[in-house]
Amino acid sequence: MCHRPSPSHGPQEPLFGLDEIPRAPAAEPAPPARAFRDSAQARRLLTIREIHAEPAAAASPRGRQILARFPEARLIEVDSHWRIPELHGNEGSADDWMRIKRRTLVLGVRKTLTTRPNGRSADWIAPGPSNGCALSCVYCYVPRRKGFANPITVFTNIDRILAHLGRHVAAQGRKPEPNQCDPEAWVYDIGENGDCAVDALVCDNTADLVRAFRDWPTAKASFATKFVNPDLLELEPRGRTRIRFSVMPADDSRLLDLRTSPVDRRIAAAADFLDAGYEVHFNLSPVVVRPGWQDAWAQLLRHMDDVLPTRVKRQARAEVIMLTHNAGLHEVNLRWHPRGEDVLWQPVVQQTKRSQNGGLNLRYRDDVKRRALADLSELVARHAPWLGIRYAF
Ligand code: SF4
Repeated sequence: MCHRPSPSHGPQEPLFGLDEIPRAPAAEPAPPARAFRDSAQARRLLTIREIHAEPAAAASPRGRQILARFPEARLIEVDSHWRIPELHGNEGSADDWMRIKRRTLVLGVRKTLTTRPNGRSADWIAPGPSNGCALSCVYCYVPRRKGFANPITVFTNIDRILAHLGRHVAAQGRKPEPNQCDPEAWVYDIGENGDCAVDALVCDNTADLVRAFRDWPTAKASFATKFVNPDLLELEPRGRTRIRFSVMPADDSRLLDLRTSPVDRRIAAAADFLDAGYEVHFNLSPVVVRPGWQDAWAQLLRHMDDVLPTRVKRQARAEVIMLTHNAGLHEVNLRWHPRGEDVLWQPVVQQTKRSQNGGLNLRYRDDVKRRALADLSELVARHAPWLGIRYAF
């Protein structure tokens, strides 16, 4: 374990066996003046006190930028960002779920740089710039593979991720024909295992990706978010990044989407993001079947219809995603937010399926899901007919 010495601790000791990691940030494009990520509000969401870092990640330019942003944080050396027994492997961490998300960061080097075909939300799933999240959605699938804690892990080798993506985009050439992902561009999901808008509070990984995609005319980045980060408005995506604001009825969100921006704020931000050069879509997700859910969704869709300007409606599309849950995650959630499990864990209307990595996943029974999707499609057609559904899952 290494502790980053504070200036009062005398001469700086070597870190990780390296001579010294410079404290000054690496040369990076300057963030916008008075960036939101430096505001008191952002600092309340992320009050980083502990950074677990692989040596190479801490020594990299992006790692140094992050360490410089959080000078009070204790630096702890880890062999691998995946194997941190006192964090992910410690059952007691689940009792501290929210505090760890607020106070802890992990820095790692992404080893596997693979772009996978998808075909539903996006054409391709890019190797993401992070894994984990500072927000606390109770149903989030990312912790299923991480154990008892799920803070943000930032991958610091963003240069290699960008180089890999540049090669992949070039190798595809033009998209031969339109599909439901996009009529023209190959769509790359860049935020499969995190929230890129939240990552932008930590470092410039999201900014680097948005800027890279604006130079790739055959491709488009896409990510879902539940957080309104005004700093993203400065990035000039020039139409090459699709931001997908996830929405759900306010009562569900208050119970299940902890630490996120309120749903009405996400909806209200849509026009600003469109005007800043993003394509703005919506994820109607997850749809949680509970008594009165249809009325709650009708109210949400009517609200969207009332407040969204025509220019947003004209280009908006939606994805509909029914809740999936997981037995292991249920046990973890019971330790920190049992009330959420009252609506998520409904074995009477759910069926189980063993996943590839051995976990037990729960989805709504086929008949329940079919009916729910038909109901929701009807609600969209009635209350927000401008919102074409790209796919429902
Ligand atoms: S915003 Fe996304 S990644 Fe973050 S906790 Fe919620 S579902 Fe998970």
